[in-house]
Amino acid sequence: RFGTAAAAEEPISPSVQVGETQLLINGKFVDAASGKTFPTLDPRTGEVIARVSEGDAEDVDRAVVAARKAFDEGPWPKMTAYERSRILLRFADLIEKHNDEIAALETWDNGKPYEQAAHIEVPMLARLMRYYAGWTDKIHGLIVPADGPHHVQVLHEPIGVVGQIIPWNFPLLMYGWKVGPALACGNTIVLKTAEQTPLSALYVSKLLHEAGLPEGVLNIISGFGPTAGAALAGHMDVDKIAFTGSTDTGKVILELSARSNLKAVTLELGGKSPFIVMDDADIDQAVELAHFALFFNQGQCCCAGSRTFVHERVYDEFVEKSKARALKRVVGDPFRKGVEQGPQIDDEQFKKILRYIKSGVDSGATLVTGGDKLGDKGYYIQPTIFSDVQDDMKIAQEEIFGPVQSIFKFNDLNEVIKRANASQYGLAAGVFTNNLDTANTLTRALRAGTIWVNCFDIFDAAIPFGGYKMSGIGREKGIDSLKNYLQVKAVVTALKNPAW
Ligand code: NAD
Repeated sequence: RFGTAAAAEEPISPSVQVGETQLLINGKFVDAASGKTFPTLDPRTGEVIARVSEGDAEDVDRAVVAARKAFDEGPWPKMTAYERSRILLRFADLIEKHNDEIAALETWDNGKPYEQAAHIEVPMLARLMRYYAGWTDKIHGLIVPADGPHHVQVLHEPIGVVGQIIPWNFPLLMYGWKVGPALACGNTIVLKTAEQTPLSALYVSKLLHEAGLPEGVLNIISGFGPTAGAALAGHMDVDKIAFTGSTDTGKVILELSARSNLKAVTLELGGKSPFIVMDDADIDQAVELAHFALFFNQGQCCCAGSRTFVHERVYDEFVEKSKARALKRVVGDPFRKGVEQGPQIDDEQFKKILRYIKSGVDSGATLVTGGDKLGDKGYYIQPTIFSDVQDDMKIAQEEIFGPVQSIFKFNDLNEVIKRANASQYGLAAGVFTNNLDTANTLTRALRAGTIWVNCFDIFDAAIPFGGYKMSGIGREKGIDSLKNYLQVKAVVTALKNPAW
């Protein structure tokens, strides 16, 4: 129990075990070639949960060899689409069967509330797998009515060996967004997890093999970015790389592709998403949603509504009510019932967020509530709100990735459109209004990959997600995600008898 937060209820005690800690290569859990390991820490205390094998270039190479063999020799790409679908469906059943253990592991390694992991994220992973299981036998090509005496087919083929690099904020969901479409399309995979959160991907990948995935189709490398991650992005025998993380690292990934074999690249990067509250909105609802849009997952969301723009007519009321809501936010041990906010992921992020808070104060924003760490152990931060934030402040421009809400004042629709779009990012936007015309104007004018109107963070498996501008390249989830994992082959055959 911390600071001003209300008391959390009794602890939940799910059974939780570490599970696998080695690399997964060619269907087997193995040590790193170097024999090295690294610790993964509990964000509640900073204590070591387990030591995990540390993959490096040599292990990435072993994994790519296994994935190449599984792609070239099968059985995966040559299996019937129906059989691939059934493996993904069995995997979804196993995820559901082990829901509580998986959720507990995710909370232990990441610090997110157990109730969120158990009721939202693990069920969403199962849902994603069923969604992609449904696609396997619906991916097919076209016959094209080209000019001339030719029979023209367009084939959609798996792209080959796919490299995937994921972040620590949603370890399981990022795994699902990447592995689901790649497998549905018949590719083989080498996936590198984030060094902060290696455990849940190893756990569920074991279940995927129990569900019948052939060896070599999915290889998991735990390890660090500049070593294992860079080796994967720069590998000459990887056909495609999909990355989620910071914009700076996204640029490195593009460079590594360019300097190696020009592998196809998709990127899901940072954001500084506007959340716009018009004066006709239901203010209580808007306050609650803006709070959720920013504070969900400890503020560690790429699409967090981190620029709350509020119409001047309702501004003072909005700030007061947002303060009251933040003071009620229950921060504490994520294994306790009723806790809404756990610790930040690690010491580095914790210190970075505190530096941003100091920068907000120094640049003259009004600190409405919070502004400090919470407790003496682990990486807890008070729910923090700044008002009177100006567009040129650092906290208005850079991704804080923590529980820090910045509230801006506006008085005109055209003005807020310009200011909302004046960002290097374009991942998402929230629009809160009861006026249809205002909603339509905003949704057309805002340059972002997702616009949520009178809602936020709706993540159905069928809805595409991705960024404009420096928030990324390509889309994940939905039909569009399949395009990332397919090659297109045109087959043009001369017709001897064009009459038919
Ligand atoms: P990051 O981009 O450094 O890490 C993301 C992944 O990339 C990890 O798996 C990491 O090991 C890997 N990586 C790092 N350097 C690499 C390299 N040179 N080559 C290949 N792979 C590499 O992100 P971070 O350091 O964990 O977090 C820093 C900031 O990134 C956060 O403060 C936040 O702003 C942002 N972030 C965004 C998202 C998102 O979903 N958009 C997720 C996590 C972090």
